[in-house]
Formats: sequence, C-alpha cells, structure tokens
Amino acid sequence: MITRFAPSPTGPLHLGHAFSAILAHDMAVAAGGRFLLRIEDIDQSRARPEWEAQIFDDLAWLGLTWPEPVMRQSDRLKIYRDSLNSLWTRNAIYACTCNRRDILEAAGAPQEGAHPVTGPDGVVYPGTCRTAGAHITGAPLPDQALRLRMEEATGDNLTSSLRFTETGAGPDSETGNIRFGKEIRSSIGDIVLARRDMGTSYHLSVVLDDAAQGITHVVRGNDLFEATKIHVVLQHLLGLPTPVYHHHHLIRDATGRRLAKRDDDRALCKFRAEGASPADIRHMVGLGA
Ligand code: GLU
Ligand code: ZN
Repeated sequence: MITRFAPSPTGPLHLGHAFSAILAHDMAVAAGGRFLLRIEDIDQSRARPEWEAQIFDDLAWLGLTWPEPVMRQSDRLKIYRDSLNSLWTRNAIYACTCNRRDILEAAGAPQEGAHPVTGPDGVVYPGTCRTAGAHITGAPLPDQALRLRMEEATGDNLTSSLRFTETGAGPDSETGNIRFGKEIRSSIGDIVLARRDMGTSYHLSVVLDDAAQGITHVVRGNDLFEATKIHVVLQHLLGLPTPVYHHHHLIRDATGRRLAKRDDDRALCKFRAEGASPADIRHMVGLGA
C-alpha cells in the first residue's frame, strides 16, 4: 500500500490536515506500506516557501516520516504540459476564452432567482467555446484556458469502467463499489484542465502525480468525493490506473463548521506553542492510541 498526503503550501496546517496526514500515514504503516508527501504548489500566486517549511516541521513534529526527495508540483510543469499537448492532439480538450462573467451570463445566473447548476468546480460550464472555431493542430498556447470534452471522455464504451472502490465514505455515506456515468456531463461538465494563470489544474496534476508516485490508496477529505469522478475519467483518458479511494470525514470546529485554512486559531503551530504534544493532537482528531 502506498498512501500520500498532498498539502498546498498556502497557509498553516490545521487539525483537519493533521487528521488526514496521520490517517494516511497510519494506514500505510499498518499495511507494511509507504507514506509519501507531495507539495501541491501549482498556484504560485499563493504558495510560499515559509508555509512549505512549516508543513515539513509540523509533520515531523507529529512523528510522521516520509522518503526524500519530496515531489513538488512546481517541478513538474513540463510533464503537465506534455500531457495537455497530447490531449490537444487527440482533440480531447479545447481552448476557452470565457471569463467568469461570460460563464455566469451564459448559464443564466444574473437573473433574479436563477440557480445555475454547480459541480465540484463551481458553475457547470455552459459550453460556449466547445464548438467555436476549428480545432488547430500543433500545441495550445501556454496562456490558454483548456477544457475537457466531457461528453467524448464519458463515451458509451466507457460506461462499465466509470467506477472506483471507496473504502472510506462520501458525504452521503457512499461506500464500496462507486459507479457513475453520463450524468456527470451535466452535473460536472467541461471542467478546466489548464488554467490560464497556471498552465495546469488541480485535477490534471493530481491524477498525473498520483500515478507517477504509484499511489495505491488516496486518503483525503470527503469534500473531494465528487472530484474523484473527474479523476477517474482522466485516468481512463490518460491510460493510468485508478487507485483505491478512502475519503474521510472533515474535522469540524465546536460550532460544526468545517475548518478552513483561514481558521488560524486551529493551526497546529498554535497548539504546539500552547504546549500540546503529538499524542494530544492524535486524541483531538480521534486517532489516539
Ligand atoms: N492539495 C490538495 C488540498 O490541499 C490535496 C487534494 C488531494 O488530496 O487530492 O486540498
Ligand atoms: Zn469559453
């Protein structure tokens, strides 16, 4: 078993991250496997070396160990680009020139009372650029937003392979053999695989990286359960294996609100400064010995 923890260095780790990292670590150790770390820093406008250093420090303090060198997404931009170029050649993606307002307008959102369909990435793309212009061979431009042709990517020949094994649970207790199908064309739609400002996207990078690191079990919060369907589609498109997924519940604060990165009052470094031990943290997140 190979698990991973894949934080973005855009703020302090909090109790929710500690839960996710310890769970992934303990699962691998219990199975005699390996726990890997990956720094998800494709958003260079938000990633900071100080946060990355703090992540290593907090995880080591928790008693977790991982092999070096650590995979860093900012080192892999060429690999993401090569993959986008091949998807482009296969006409599996297209360039989108819409801005946020164009999308809301085409989705009918500005009208009072209109509720556009939202998926894991927000408002489902209304498809404006899908048929615009001819497909140009060669490579897409580095600063173009690129979207997946979800209809083609979920073609009839794939209906039996659109599935994954869930050993944890989704937000509605979904577990076991999770099947899905063409409904994601309208519930998720043509998601962005390359953001204009990044040249890639969370979805593309995470799928390529999990495969490159040989991850067998993806342990992460159940807020990513729907996104897993996108990842399975991409794995089929790119000829990559689908790992087992283990989605866990989210650690909530005393009022039942889920923790976000801005909840610095729940930051691990704050508990550390107040004298908490790694064992105290394990107890707080329900993973005590
Ligand atoms: N970098 C993502 C996050 O911070 C990780 C998501 C994942 O585990 O796939 O939420
Ligand atoms: Zn567009």
